[in-house]
Amino acid sequence: KIIGILLCIMMVVSLLTACGAKETGNTGKGKTVGVCMPTKDLQRWNQDGDNMKKELEKAGYKVDLQYANNEIATQVSQIENMITNGVDVLVIASIDGGSLGTVLADAKKKGIPVIAYDRLIMETDAVSYYATFDNYKVGQIQGEYIVKTLDLDNQDGPFNIELFAGSPDDNNARFFFGGAMDVLQPYIDSGKLNVVSGQTSFEEVATLNWSTETAQSRMENLITAYYSDGTPLHVVYSSNDSCAIGITNALVNAGFTKDNFPIITGQDCDIASVKNILAGLQSMSVFKDTRTLAAKVVEMVEAIMKGEEVPVNDTKTYDNGTGIIPTYLCDPVFADINNYKELLIDSGYYTEDQLK
Ligand code: BGC
Repeated sequence: KIIGILLCIMMVVSLLTACGAKETGNTGKGKTVGVCMPTKDLQRWNQDGDNMKKELEKAGYKVDLQYANNEIATQVSQIENMITNGVDVLVIASIDGGSLGTVLADAKKKGIPVIAYDRLIMETDAVSYYATFDNYKVGQIQGEYIVKTLDLDNQDGPFNIELFAGSPDDNNARFFFGGAMDVLQPYIDSGKLNVVSGQTSFEEVATLNWSTETAQSRMENLITAYYSDGTPLHVVYSSNDSCAIGITNALVNAGFTKDNFPIITGQDCDIASVKNILAGLQSMSVFKDTRTLAAKVVEMVEAIMKGEEVPVNDTKTYDNGTGIIPTYLCDPVFADINNYKELLIDSGYYTEDQLK
């Protein structure tokens, strides 16, 4: 009789535990996700990594989160280790999108699904899904900001502009620049915008590794060659914040002040750039809420693990050289001095103190 009662109690307890597990969404129990981020140097990737880890752990997964110091070989060996350790899914923000083919062939052989995070991984059929922000739209927003701020449809100009694109090994970089140039090119053609240096092709204006120092020294050279005689500089198009910081440093060092500071665009709403926006040393930044992207990728992981349909909203844009990769595009928005409070502080992304 006692044994019977004990068995009953055990059954009830295990039933309750099972229900509890379901209620807290513990689908990840016993599963590990390998999360590879490019570098800790840039604030956004730290946020991406932290958000992914937090969300995945909430769903019960174990997380192996690695940063590769922007070194391709380090990222490759981190992925190799994850495969050896038997991760169930790989989520990768690549450093050089074209350098992971060999290691990912191994992932594919072992049946490990791969999600490309933010940056598309090129020339490999091992990538199952891609999640990012609408990269073309990021560039469009930046271009439109310049057009609107200069009121180019009503002003003749000419306004002097220089262009800074991102890293050539990052597939996103051409999308950002393409989106911006599709907006700006007509005004360059009509003479309202004047690229004084004449440097307009992606190759001429790209910034390897999105490096602040590289952007700074190119801006210094441009100032010396084209603007040291007092020629005004009205706009610097910068694809992201890490380049914008270098551009701003060069301008400040060369004696530009708030009175003659050009419009400068950016992307990521890194703290240093938001501070520059507040100080009048950068005009805008495209806000890509990394919490949204991380949450979407966790949904993708969950769907893959449960064998359910994976959420995507774009199946025509992102060809990685082996075919179209089904993609989820999150929506970017612009932030400037007028709306940063609502976007960045009220939403809990930053505290007021972080921006002081
Ligand atoms: C990301 C940007 C980031 C840049 C530099 C791009 O792939 O989409 O948000 O600014 O890399 O890290």
